[in-house]
Amino acid sequence: MSNSPYNPFETAQAQFDKVAAQLGLDDATRELLRQPMREYHFLIPVRMDDGSYKVFKGFRVQHNDARGPAKGGIRFHPLETIDTIRALSMWMTWKCSVVDIPLGGGKGGVICDPHSLSEREQEQICRGYIRQLAKNVGPLSDVPAPDVMTNAKHMLWMLDEYEAIHGAKYPGFITGKPVGMGGSLGRTEATGFGVIYVLREALKNLGIDITKTTASFQGFGNVAQYAVKLYTQLGGKVIAISCWDNNDKKAYTFRRKSGMSIDELLGITDRFGTIDKEKAADLGYEVLPGEAWIEQDVDIMVPAALENQITIDNVNRISSQVKVVLEAANGPTTNDADKVLIDKGIFVIPDFLANAGGVTCSYFEQVQCNMNYYWEKDEVLAKLDTKMTSAYRAVYELAQSRNLTMRDAAYVIAISRVAQAVKSRGWV
Ligand code: NAD
Repeated sequence: MSNSPYNPFETAQAQFDKVAAQLGLDDATRELLRQPMREYHFLIPVRMDDGSYKVFKGFRVQHNDARGPAKGGIRFHPLETIDTIRALSMWMTWKCSVVDIPLGGGKGGVICDPHSLSEREQEQICRGYIRQLAKNVGPLSDVPAPDVMTNAKHMLWMLDEYEAIHGAKYPGFITGKPVGMGGSLGRTEATGFGVIYVLREALKNLGIDITKTTASFQGFGNVAQYAVKLYTQLGGKVIAISCWDNNDKKAYTFRRKSGMSIDELLGITDRFGTIDKEKAADLGYEVLPGEAWIEQDVDIMVPAALENQITIDNVNRISSQVKVVLEAANGPTTNDADKVLIDKGIFVIPDFLANAGGVTCSYFEQVQCNMNYYWEKDEVLAKLDTKMTSAYRAVYELAQSRNLTMRDAAYVIAISRVAQAVKSRGWV
């Protein structure tokens, strides 16, 4: 996504190549794992509300399904690119593997801007997307989910189209559905809460008391809102949050050094995660330029918006007070900036570990759909905490014992499991 000079797929491949070399993977396994196994590119014609027709471009990429059906969200974004989706599908493979759930990696997207589409037009895009793909996705082959600018409503339209085409009920086809329609309690909170379960463990390892920490967030959508909520419940203080303003076509940072109130902010935030700047100013928040989130004197920085946000151009603006970068978004740090963070001694918790709570809960949703028996929210969140905590600890212990960064340690665990699966299946 975006017009950034950084290509996320090249970033993902470079990260893979580095660890594949350390692991001594053979050439065939490397070639198989450094690119997607299957890609679908298609057009979705839609009759618009004014009677005209528009043709939208859609993609679905299945990176690897050796450990189970491909799994990954569908994004709606005007600047979506196939290389972003390739990268995200690859990161999904590693994400499912690092938390050890029996799923592979996939991702999808449509080039469109939901800000300027009516509900009916969005529904037509969802249904058209499934019509193009109905034979290539399914509960036992590829299971989509929501992502940037898609939500439970979109998932239900997609499920409905899939079930109409196949003539039966397949609640396990898609996750992130509304609760009561096959969705899991806790799914909305899962990614943001998972991010903070991992942070809680990291701070214990670093000997830092969470109640004495401050944080700055980029993004205030689904992931960030629940991360901010749990972090403040555990006693942390958020002092800055940036988000995108679609009217002004730029981002703003909102700051209150005495601490921000999640409930107050939710009351002035729209469904796209945009905080109203006039109302925020009335409530005593400073309204600063979008990039200001990165230069705050805080202990923890949480990129929770998009990829390629911490780059070689801005990494040196990060305050010397920062001790942890918690990657809640996918691919927020470019590889050159990552090296600088490591040199600065910052503890970086990599994206595919930090934000794996979403897919872990999606897996729980599938399990519940298959049983046709749904758990209470406390049970879902307790299982999520157990899974995230044990994945974090395994990565931390490997990083310590082999003197690796957390990112490389997470990759070693994830890639080894997938490499083992493709070998055991006799693919290479
Ligand atoms: P969202 O659409 O709900 O929210 C995105 C937020 O980012 C919004 O507040 C938006 O205003 C903000 N934003 C966009 N561009 C910005 C910019 N240039 N500067 C500052 N803020 C900006 O999306 P989300 O579901 O919260 O996802 C956020 C990230 O987390 C993405 O990278 C996504 O792939 C990743 N992720 C999401 C989930 C999930 O379950 N939702 C799971 C894993 C990973």
